[in-house]
Amino acid sequence: MQSVPPNSSSSPNSTSSSNSAPKYEFFKVIQNYLDDASKLIQMPEYIRSILSQPKNEIIVNFPVRMDNGDYRLFKGYRIQHNNILGPYKGGMRYHEHASLDDFKALAAMMTWKCSLMNLPFGGGKGGIKFSPHGVSRSELSRITRRFFHALGSNIGPDYDIPAPDVGTNSQTMAWALDTYMNSVGMVSKQSVMGVVTGKPVSFGGTYGREKATGQGLVHCVLDWADRARFDIKGKKLMVQGFGNVGSHAAVLLSHLGVSLVAVGDHTGYLYNPEGFNAHRLMQYVQQNGSIAGYANGTKITREQFFATQADIFVPAALENQIGVAEAEALQVQLVAEGANGPCSPEGEEILKKRGIEILPDVLCNAGGVTVSYYEWVQNRRSEQWTITEVDERLEGAMRDAYDRMARFAKLNNCDYRRACYAVALQRLTQVYTEREIFP
Ligand code: NAD
Repeated sequence: MQSVPPNSSSSPNSTSSSNSAPKYEFFKVIQNYLDDASKLIQMPEYIRSILSQPKNEIIVNFPVRMDNGDYRLFKGYRIQHNNILGPYKGGMRYHEHASLDDFKALAAMMTWKCSLMNLPFGGGKGGIKFSPHGVSRSELSRITRRFFHALGSNIGPDYDIPAPDVGTNSQTMAWALDTYMNSVGMVSKQSVMGVVTGKPVSFGGTYGREKATGQGLVHCVLDWADRARFDIKGKKLMVQGFGNVGSHAAVLLSHLGVSLVAVGDHTGYLYNPEGFNAHRLMQYVQQNGSIAGYANGTKITREQFFATQADIFVPAALENQIGVAEAEALQVQLVAEGANGPCSPEGEEILKKRGIEILPDVLCNAGGVTVSYYEWVQNRRSEQWTITEVDERLEGAMRDAYDRMARFAKLNNCDYRRACYAVALQRLTQVYTEREIFP
């Protein structure tokens, strides 16, 4: 088989079909979904217009001393989309192709997600435009610390609460919390634990947060399987992106008898018809940073990956990965969106025409922010819940949201994505209508 050219050499935000496809603009895609759903619930125009733009767009440029003594200037972002339901909440992404447009789209999606999940949070997102793979650990620590220092009082446990996303993890959040604690003064230091979530368990984190997004996705897959009378045992899985979301989803599904036959990340794609040991692959990636060099699989191209014979596909990398060509190639019955925005609108149309079901991002990856909320509550109460408590609450929350989405879709004859948006927008509309616009 042909070896895989690393995807990182081309823009990861473009699909292989991007030459013929219209230009992908993530924020416009999200605004269009908002428009569709607002019509479904007859949302007043003034609320639609408020929600079509973020409240605040913060950009900071900050210098960092690199290991060789040089100084490098970095650009950091924090988009605060909406806080009518509570403090802004959302991840921090470190990626070389990250843009203001992406962060605006991702922040808006956090508003819908928190609303759908009935959480007392609004939506935010941010990060830094650079590749975390290209710097040392100590450089990464200094970049993170200078970024959070530069954000200053633009974040806070009752105002805006970051979490991990692509290219960041619990270690990033530990540096962020330590930096924030050391900038608020001795007296307040111990009361700001909740300024970030997704922290290490030893430093204010919660049990279950690492796997939460993958776990929430698995609850959605099981709910879908129950309703579709689809026995997932013995079924085949393909996963794009084997970081936090993709690896946990694969491991948890493997416990239910689902076999991971194809996997890919920023370094390439691998195939194993006998099924990978998802747990071992996760450990390999944790040690080596990617799937590159993993022995138990054959290298395949990105095109071959998308044409793999399987039953369930979990995109868990980046937005705009399933364009026209990928949607035409996919041989699965279900796409469970671990990533935010993995389907382009054109790709989504083709999947629908082909009868391939989509479990939409706004619900399917909402387990992460839901358990982040549990972490924030534990920090406020100085409590530590058991893994069983966290798991039970998450399962209840996911099943409840799935049910509300499915009922809306049935009643209004719309797809699950529009239903998620509509249910989320109903709650926001009610609050805007009751509170009214100040003054
Ligand atoms: P991560 O950094 O842990 O993993 C990202 C994975 O994507 C890595 O395996 C990376 O190699 C792969 N990747 C990057 N560029 C790629 C490319 N061009 N082609 C193929 N693979 C590529 O990130 P994560 O936290 O697992 O996030 C993945 C997705 O899930 C993102 O869309 C993120 O917004 C979404 N998400 C994450 C969480 C969370 O709790 N971490 C919650 C909700 C949604």
